This record gives sequence, structure tokens and C-alpha cells, in this order.
Amino acid sequence: MSIADLARDEVRALPLYAPDLADCPIDVSDNTNLWGASPAAQRALAERPPALARYPSLYSAPLRESILRYVGLDSAAGIGVVTGCGSDDVLDSTMRAFGRTGSRLAFPSPTFSMIPVFARLNGMEPVGVPLTDAFDADAERLVEAGAAITYLCTPNNPTATPLSRAAVEYVAEHARGIVVIDEAYAEFAPEIFIDLVERHERVLVARTFSKAFGLAGLRVGFGVGSQALVSLVERARGPYKVNAMAEQAALASLEESEDSLGWVRARAALAVEMRDRLSAELRARGFKPLPSAANFLCIPTSRAQVLASRLRERGVLVRAMSGLPREIAALSAEGGMALRIGVGPWDVMLRLLNALDEAMQ
Ligand SMILES: *Cc1c(COP(=O)(O)O)cnc(C)c1O
Repeated sequence: MSIADLARDEVRALPLYAPDLADCPIDVSDNTNLWGASPAAQRALAERPPALARYPSLYSAPLRESILRYVGLDSAAGIGVVTGCGSDDVLDSTMRAFGRTGSRLAFPSPTFSMIPVFARLNGMEPVGVPLTDAFDADAERLVEAGAAITYLCTPNNPTATPLSRAAVEYVAEHARGIVVIDEAYAEFAPEIFIDLVERHERVLVARTFSKAFGLAGLRVGFGVGSQALVSLVERARGPYKVNAMAEQAALASLEESEDSLGWVRARAALAVEMRDRLSAELRARGFKPLPSAANFLCIPTSRAQVLASRLRERGVLVRAMSGLPREIAALSAEGGMALRIGVGPWDVMLRLLNALDEAMQ
């Protein structure tokens, strides 16, 4: 028997997640914070480094307190937080806790690419339900899937579009299983859904420090939900998943001061401004970026692959996507292909636009 024969089927069937990560001077491919991390987070690591020989806290108790304050639920009864090594870890642990082998995980398609991967690794069957032409969730079909877990991402990666309150509330009210609302881009969004955790015991809102907070390199994420729900996710997660450096920097980022939360909020507002400016520039060049509620733009174009590789030759890394659902009019018109571009400081955006002008010729 070969080693591969000894592996679990789910693992053998999966290719390694390895997007194009060419080393480019300008990398706008992963929606991280192109302004960096807050001064408070950087100072915390430089001036108060944790004891490296000690384990971090078991389940990040001090950080959980700060997170509850940040999301405005510190006085809500029966609401808890589970942290993780990135929100990826929280999503994966939720599947481990609630996804029995062979059960379904339903999600609007397209969505965060790791979701079907984590589902399969956890022995679940991923069921994608195409977004509507207006890029909203098809709430009735999602509920009809009878899934153990329904995953909603708003603003949605990779489309950048928000889901409507009507659709999200319909799923929260009618789905029989757990409902995960991934708000990785909450800080840029006009509407968030954290209020649903107080009304629905089965709703978990997932957030991350990797995007607006600029701490992608440290890997910290969290989930907010009923105490009953988060304590089960935490059991599936296991101890010591947030390392001491990450906990220190995340805690510092949540302080109410000019160079911590103030910095994060100001950069998020700037990202929204730069995004709308970039969107106008792209429209002037004949592209039709989808209406974005996040810090990135999704641009349906049948030339996605060729443009991405020409941009890369010019030192600019963007994400090219293909195989997106043809059921959605704006995507099918472009053969199911699109570019995804993260937003950052305007001088970076200008270099991107210059490279794009060359790439389009
Ligand atoms: C980036 C992203 C995440 C991953 O966050 P980590 O905390 O870095 O694991 C989760 N969900 C969505 C939709 C994302 O875009």
C-alpha cells in the first residue's frame, strides 16, 4: 500500500491550497490592509513582547473580553466569543463541531474559496446555491438544502457585494442547523449583522484581525454567538490556538485610542474612499466593477487571466478567478471570469492603473 492509499479519502482528493503568490512589488491579491498594522499593535510587540517560553492563555480570555466590548455586546446576556488561529480556524472548528459526516454545508455561490475545502476535509458535502442576478442570497433555496451548517458571507468574498438584511434574516429564522455569518469585511460595510446573535441562538458571526486590523501575519480571528454555541466550537477547536504575540497585538489593536481603534477606523474609511475612486477609474476604462461594500473590487471580465499575467509581468499581483457561476447574469456575460483587486493608498492604486493601461493594449 502506498502512503497515499493510507490517507483519508477527503485529504487525498484535495489539491494543496496554493494560489499564485509571485513576489511582486505591488500585491493587491489578498484584501489585506495595505496601510499596514496600527502603531499600537506594533508598539505592543516591540515594547511588551510576551514570554516566549510560556504557553499563551488557554482560550484567550482577556482578548475575548475586549472583543465583546468592540462588538458592543459586553452587557448582553448569554453571548460569548471563541477565538482562533485566524477566522479560518473558527470556521473549520465550527464544521468539526456541527458537521456530521455526510451532512451538508450550504452557501451562496461564489463565496470564500476555503469554505468548500473545509467542508470536504470535515466529511461534509458542500452545496453551492448561486447568488441572484442582484448578488443577493437565494434564501429559500439555501434553507431548502436542509444543511447542518449554512454559511453566509457579507460583504461576500470574492464578489465584494453585501447580502440584503431580508435574505440574511430569512436564513437565520428558517434554517434548521447552524448559521454562520462571515463578516471578515465588517469594518468597511454599511450594514452588519452582529445583532442577530442576540435573537438567534444558532447564529455565529465570524470576524478576523487579518483585514481592517492589518494583522494577517499573526493569524487571529473570532466568532461571536450564544454561549451554548461558542462553547461547542471552542471544544472542537482545542486549547492554545491563538499564540501569545497574536493575542498581545490583537488586544492592543482594540484599545479605544487614536493609534489603535482610531487608526483602524480611519484607515477603513480611507479604504472605502479609495475604493470608490478606483471603481470610477475602472469604469472610465470600460470595466464594470460590482458594487462593493468591502476593501476590494470584483471586476467581471473574460480577459481576467491574460490581464492578471500581464499585470504580474509589470510587478502587480491581482487575483484572477474563473469558473464562477454562469447562472449570474453579470458573470455569465464574461464567461464566469473576474479579477479581484484589493484597495490601498492612492499612490499604489495609481501604479496599478498605469500597469493596467499597459496590460490592456
Ligand atoms: C480573509 C478572509 C477570511 C480569513 O481570515 P483569517 O482570519 O485570515 O483566517 C475569512 N473569511 C473571508 C470571507 C475572508 O475573505
